[in-house]
Amino acid sequence: MDAAVTQPACPLCQTNGEDILFSNDLYRIVAVNDPAWPGFCRVILNRHAAEMTDLPIEDRSALMKAVCVVESALRRLMQPTKINLASLGNVVPHVHWHVIPRWADDTHFPDPIWAAAKRPAGVVRQEPDRAALVQEITSCLA
Ligand SMILES: [Zn+2]
Repeated sequence: MDAAVTQPACPLCQTNGEDILFSNDLYRIVAVNDPAWPGFCRVILNRHAAEMTDLPIEDRSALMKAVCVVESALRRLMQPTKINLASLGNVVPHVHWHVIPRWADDTHFPDPIWAAAKRPAGVVRQEPDRAALVQEITSCLA
């Protein structure tokens, strides 16, 4: 990435250790690979900006298209009860979207995944097929 538009102290300005499913000049889509939240992906702006409204409208639109493509792919591959989309940035103020498949029987439903658990883990769900996920995303965004 361009050092002029990244901040050394910002973890999302680095890509170290990320499982990147797709990337272009504007953003990257990464698999979070947290067994507690199968299918959890993030769409991360490559350059450092704190808010969606810091971006030109074209970049906002491209970012939201990517979020929707990931949502759509996860729905097809995993049939979750719901998809949660979240852009918080309170801890890391660098534009990124969480795309999180949720099930009515998951540990936190209907609360956000960052809330306290409501029940013990039940059904163990697997990550979506990585090749199929990459294919779905790439076919819509490449
Ligand atoms: Zn950053």
